Amino acid sequence: MRVSEWVRVSQPRLFWNVMYMRKKSPRGLAGSLFGLLLMFLLLSVPVLPAWAASQAPAPTPVLQVVASFSILADMVGEVGGDYVSVTTLVGAGTDTHSFEPSPRDSAAMAQAKVLFVNGLGFETWLPRLISASGFKGVQVIASKGITPRMLDVGQEAHSKGKKPNGHSHGSVVDPHAWHSLVNGMLYARNIAEGLAQADPPRAEIYRARADDYIKQMKKLDNEVRHALASIPAQRRRVVTTHDAFGYFGHDYGIEFISIVGLSNDAEPSARDLASIVDLVKRRHASALFLENAGNSRLIEQVARETGVNVGGTLYSDSLGQPDEPAGTYLGLIKWNAGQLIYALKP
Ligand code: ZN
Repeated sequence: MRVSEWVRVSQPRLFWNVMYMRKKSPRGLAGSLFGLLLMFLLLSVPVLPAWAASQAPAPTPVLQVVASFSILADMVGEVGGDYVSVTTLVGAGTDTHSFEPSPRDSAAMAQAKVLFVNGLGFETWLPRLISASGFKGVQVIASKGITPRMLDVGQEAHSKGKKPNGHSHGSVVDPHAWHSLVNGMLYARNIAEGLAQADPPRAEIYRARADDYIKQMKKLDNEVRHALASIPAQRRRVVTTHDAFGYFGHDYGIEFISIVGLSNDAEPSARDLASIVDLVKRRHASALFLENAGNSRLIEQVARETGVNVGGTLYSDSLGQPDEPAGTYLGLIKWNAGQLIYALKP
């Protein structure tokens, strides 16, 4: 135990020992004053004695970093701990697809040593923000190395004539890779390497913290896999507002049908909606789910027209508030799995 920790842990015990001595051996006014004086001296011992302070290494300043959205910001905070100060561009409960950066975001970028982004075409507004802010630090693409999920736009009946994520090709990349914990483990590694590059003296600290975080992800991945295994095949089909849960569905064998396609700010036409209602009926979806930052009106309309129940709310592209169960990345995955199990169990 380090000297500072020992002093901190021991102080309450010393306090009670002094009080105990005074009670057991009363020595009149002089004794009481002596006890009080002793207690005062013990409590005023500096947390780090002078000799220890002189041997401690000079503290390196906290690393200023920016993360593009709340889920990624939580992951960066887990890997960086108290050694980093994270500014989040798209906060909890806010939609990244339709985000418009402010001058405050630009100022945070100008100060940052590292910028963490999801990549895969998620942050369409980012290139303009980078050039406007004059950001000169290290840019880390957290999703680097994952196997991207490709979607054929032509196969998405509801995306006809739309350009999800600004792409006009026949095939688009699904950017919502964090919904796979297996991908989350790669995110943690990439974050640790990004921090190590910007702050080499603490490289091993970041790598060790990422290892701990990955252990928690593996444990949760096993728990979710085990819990979802009991759901019968014919009940594994659900509907969400936008196509955010494909990676989750791939990992755990659940089919997600979306109303608006990949981007949450798309607005379906009456014809698109009619074809979704038809699809939900034909595919016998088990439940509909609202999204924390999505359009509940569309889900409610599909629920009315199909008679399928709303099973709950899933967190797609942003965290809940800090005091909510989905206020962290791991909490979000756990919450979503819990909602699905509750709605889909026979
Ligand atoms: Zn999304």
